[in-house]
Amino acid sequence: MDIKVCKFGGTSMADGNIMRRAADIVRADPQRRYVVVSAPGKRFGGDVKITDLLYRCHDLASSGEDFGEIFSRVRARFEGIEKEIGKDVGMRGELDRIEKEIRAGAGRDYCASRGEYLAARVMSALLGWPFVDAKDVVFFSAEGTLDDESYIKAAAALRRYPNAVIPGFYGSGADGKIKTFSRGGSDISGSVVARAVRASLYENWTDVSGFFACDPRIVSSPECIREVSYQELRELSYMGANVLHSESIFPVRSAGIPIRICNTFRPEDEGTLIVSSARRSRSGGAVTGIAGKKDFTVIFLEKSMMNGEIGFAEKVLGILSRYGVSFEHLPTGIDTLSIVIDDKYLAGGVLEKIVSDIRAEVRPDSVRTHEGIALVATVGHGMANAVGTAARLFRSLSDAGINVIMIDQGSSELNIIVGVDNADCADCIRAVYREFFRA
Ligand code: ADP
Ligand code: ASP
Ligand code: MG
Repeated sequence: MDIKVCKFGGTSMADGNIMRRAADIVRADPQRRYVVVSAPGKRFGGDVKITDLLYRCHDLASSGEDFGEIFSRVRARFEGIEKEIGKDVGMRGELDRIEKEIRAGAGRDYCASRGEYLAARVMSALLGWPFVDAKDVVFFSAEGTLDDESYIKAAAALRRYPNAVIPGFYGSGADGKIKTFSRGGSDISGSVVARAVRASLYENWTDVSGFFACDPRIVSSPECIREVSYQELRELSYMGANVLHSESIFPVRSAGIPIRICNTFRPEDEGTLIVSSARRSRSGGAVTGIAGKKDFTVIFLEKSMMNGEIGFAEKVLGILSRYGVSFEHLPTGIDTLSIVIDDKYLAGGVLEKIVSDIRAEVRPDSVRTHEGIALVATVGHGMANAVGTAARLFRSLSDAGINVIMIDQGSSELNIIVGVDNADCADCIRAVYREFFRA
């Protein structure tokens, strides 16, 4: 029998009643045999995710401050869930133990991971299925990346059970301690489990009915993309369409396992299928979707005959690596080089130090910086062959009065990225969406 792996995100785990709904979805199809869960997320606007509360507990504890009040909110959520499902699943004992561990100096990743751990305990009790700890399923290399050994070890850990519930987001680090993925990483855990059990489908259950052509918080009711390729999805999710973690495609892509994005609150909806090459036609034509991310800085360098100066770019990139900074994009001209950097790397005077080192070491004719930039990516496999796509894109921006600060086109011709002011990000996405989807 084919196996389906289901991952339920934070909103699908938000309270006991929604967890029951998730359990019903699992029971409705006997192929749904392995379940991966996130920590309870927000129940309403202004609510706080369990993971955020746990990070706060750790940060307070590690600076010697009292975290009791915040931990009592974690406790109240899980004890509330236990009441809502009408079952004693031992939350009090688990929470007492976790509180003690945080007090005793447990690591940051360990603390954050407990939301998933407890949610999986609850789901395992609800379904009556074994709990398999993610520390025996997901493994990280010494560099902190997902270790390929995970698939073999996870297969061995899960083979013994016809059904199981596994916490998302964390696994074992190379030092044997609990380590987490970056935020939203339960999507990657689901993908690892799907590959390990050779699933025929990885169902990712969330609070929207699929992957939309752009962020539904920016354009109301955008078009749902019925089929999208792994690569398009990666480009869009990396650029801010965070419905799925951008790294979650890697474990399943090489095994050819499709991902379906499904809505826990409307399980009958078709959702979005993520596959190697999307075939179904889309109304956006060459464009599959648009996504944007704020808070980048561009360093613009100019130097006559730069293209003839061997090792110029190498020297510039050497300066970045000295400060532990990686770059996002590197558009170049014959006498110009622009470096786009995520602001997270540049706090505490790092930008100024980099600029001063560039001036001293590569002696450009000019160097200037532009802060507060948003990157907006227009993505689609068809873009390479569709004459006039770029013209339409830039005309839509100029019609909307948006100033384009930087342009980059990935070498795969899968996307065109423009840099605009942070304040123009949403308008830029709206303008491109209007051009290709509501023209
Ligand atoms: P989960 O808790 O299930 O992991 P997330 O909050 O991580 O869910 O992702 C789902 C959210 O992603 C949606 O509620 C939606 O607001 C947001 N989102 C951003 N861009 C897109 C997009 N292009 N398509 C669908 N949802 C998107
Ligand atoms: N709970 C984690 C987070 O909030 C991981 C996840 O939900 O995927 O980022
Ligand atoms: Mg998510």
